[in-house]
Amino acid sequence: MTTLADVKTYLNYINGSWVPSTTEQVCASINPAYKNEIVGYVQTSDKEDLDKAVAVAKQAQVSWRKLSAPARGEFLFKIANAIEARIDEIAETMTKEMGKTFPEAKGETARGVAILRYYAGEGMRKVGDVIPSTDSEALMFTSRVPLGVVGVITPWNFPVAIPIWKMAPALVYGNSVVFKPAQETAVTAAKIIECFDEAGLPNGVVNMVTGKGTVIGQGISDHPDINGITFTGSDSVGKRVGQAALARGAKYQLEMGGKNPIIVTADADLDLAVEATISGGLRSTGQKCTATSRVIVQKEIYNEFKEKLVAKVSEITVGDGLHEGIWMGPCASESQQNTVLSYIEKGINEGATVLYGAKKLEGPEFEDGFYVEPTLFEDVTPNMTIAQEEIFGPVLALIKVDSIEEALQVANDVQFGLSASIFTTNIGNMLSFINDIEAGLVRINAESAGVELQAPFGGMKQSSSHSREQGQAAIEFFTSIKTVFVKG
Ligand code: NAP
Repeated sequence: MTTLADVKTYLNYINGSWVPSTTEQVCASINPAYKNEIVGYVQTSDKEDLDKAVAVAKQAQVSWRKLSAPARGEFLFKIANAIEARIDEIAETMTKEMGKTFPEAKGETARGVAILRYYAGEGMRKVGDVIPSTDSEALMFTSRVPLGVVGVITPWNFPVAIPIWKMAPALVYGNSVVFKPAQETAVTAAKIIECFDEAGLPNGVVNMVTGKGTVIGQGISDHPDINGITFTGSDSVGKRVGQAALARGAKYQLEMGGKNPIIVTADADLDLAVEATISGGLRSTGQKCTATSRVIVQKEIYNEFKEKLVAKVSEITVGDGLHEGIWMGPCASESQQNTVLSYIEKGINEGATVLYGAKKLEGPEFEDGFYVEPTLFEDVTPNMTIAQEEIFGPVLALIKVDSIEEALQVANDVQFGLSASIFTTNIGNMLSFINDIEAGLVRINAESAGVELQAPFGGMKQSSSHSREQGQAAIEFFTSIKTVFVKG
């Protein structure tokens, strides 16, 4: 049995050393499956710690940018190998900190490894273009240069993949990094940074400071020596980060919430659509930015689809994600559980009908964790709160429509535009969807969640600041263009 004495305290990582915060305060990271289990203690840092990290990052970037890009890429290969060697341990920590099942956590960690290898290769690809000059004796070309120090602010729902898909391109393009992970998953973050340390990166090139978002996250947004900020999280916080960055002329990239629809047309393969609705909507307990949350179904097949969906949802096994056979874990925290329950209550109060679930899971095996039943609502109208706001939990709202035109109108009638999916066998429906859906990620006969790492990732409307992460698109944010004119 674990005793308090066995619980490790994780430190900040500044200038290549593990150091405590000057505040001497720590915060406990809790296992959402067993609220009395502390996974680790992490530093509650303040501005002084952040200032130190930024100062060393600024200094370290000067020589880091001078290293060749292929040589920078070599470090990413080493980090990938270090993470791969600890994949089970890191995945288990993730499951214990935020509740996603162990196979999902392992898949995410493997994705982190693959992203690092992808960007290691980016170190050998082109970073500019030759542009024809009207002067035949001149050479005109563009070159990509790093921003300087990049601040990385990340959420708890993908505690390995998201920090890596920001830090890997930041580094390979010659930036140094100050990383503030979500406090809820800071132990997982520390283990990732241990792998960066093991790879022997020069001191100060990557730094991690843990602490409250309102202190360290805000501090990064305001810091005069941070040249670019890449943020993933809620839209309310993202807007604050964007405003602060804009006010001081720093570059910023925001990836925020979603209210992702799946449209099921009358000609769809219903079994496939049911699988995708469940996988896209309820995996990771619905806590993915790309999770399906609105299920828009044509009236002709509504009843058949609904029956199939309820039958499959009733087979979902819920519990501690480390246990074999468990399909869905707890909500990541008590506050997340309370948020989900309050949205369920709003759904009921506004007149939606509960088709399945809608309760906290109770009983001996659940009372120590933050569980909510997988939940299906029907009779949902597009203006209801559960059809408009991001819930970020295992709740699906079924909306019945008469036509593909109405389906598209309902799908677009929200402030978000991250991911959207349609199940149909009709090419006309597919084309209407591709042309008219307001989403950055458009998925045909595929669930709303899940984008390959070499493809651009990002949303439209209030889901994003409209730059793109992942793949080669990342170069746009993490570099600036120099246009060079040379006259011999
Ligand atoms: P969040 O509350 O916005 O937090 C995100 C990060 O911002 C955390 O590190 C947080 O620190 C920090 N933060 C909090 N207040 C801040 C402030 N005033 N200034 C700067 N940083 C601050 O989001 P979350 O609950 O962790 O994550 C869930 C949200 O992320 C959902 O809305 C989801 O849709 C979104 N998300 C979007 C994507 C995407 O790519 N579009 C991907 C994944 C998740 P603390 O640790 O102190 O909270």
